[in-house]
Amino acid sequence: MKRNIKEEIVEIGKRLYNAKLNGGYGGNFSVRDEDFIYITPSGLPKDKLDYTDIVVIDFKGNLVEGQGKPSSEILFHILIYKKREDVNAIIHAHPAFATGFSIAQTPIEDGIHEESCIVLGKVPVIPYEVTSSKELAEKVSDVITNHDAALLANHGAIAVGEDLERAFRKIEELELLCKMITVATIMGGVKKISEEKLALLRETMIKRAKRNDKA
Ligand code: 13P
Ligand code: ZN
Repeated sequence: MKRNIKEEIVEIGKRLYNAKLNGGYGGNFSVRDEDFIYITPSGLPKDKLDYTDIVVIDFKGNLVEGQGKPSSEILFHILIYKKREDVNAIIHAHPAFATGFSIAQTPIEDGIHEESCIVLGKVPVIPYEVTSSKELAEKVSDVITNHDAALLANHGAIAVGEDLERAFRKIEELELLCKMITVATIMGGVKKISEEKLALLRETMIKRAKRNDKA
């Protein structure tokens, strides 16, 4: 199995911790590589992992390599990879502000902050189900079919991407957005970008992406 993938996962654990996006014993992250899923072990602090702690499983959840127990949330990781062919990395974490929103069970609408509209779009709340349960895995994977980021009610956040870097940036963006909304709320309330300007923003970003593709 590939040491570089295991090292990338270890690195993400430290980055999430240092950026205050995860802590304690919480969170789990994985990378899909062909028929295998590289995933964090269960119950360890995710900022203190060694590459040898990373566990490899197949799509049936069988252990392929590693000493420890795979994350207790393997089921939602497996189901997401099955439902989203474009996704190769998943980060589940417990960032304080985003988790606060998940406890208030407050979804995040579109049109609140320019950058977040582009990176995240709407961020729904997945109704509460007990950690590690089949019910949670089904609800999470259903929502992630149509979204790259979501809040798990009374639990935390999840983001997916083509690779770990992109998934990390989405979790980071989500936490920043939750902080911004909190400040705006204290200052009198969120005022959204109009539908008309939001459509214009999307057009602008699509044109810019096409230009960058050609460059
Ligand atoms: P694991 O350590 O088993 O991955 O659990 C952490 C967690 O955040 C469960 O949702
Ligand atoms: Zn969790």
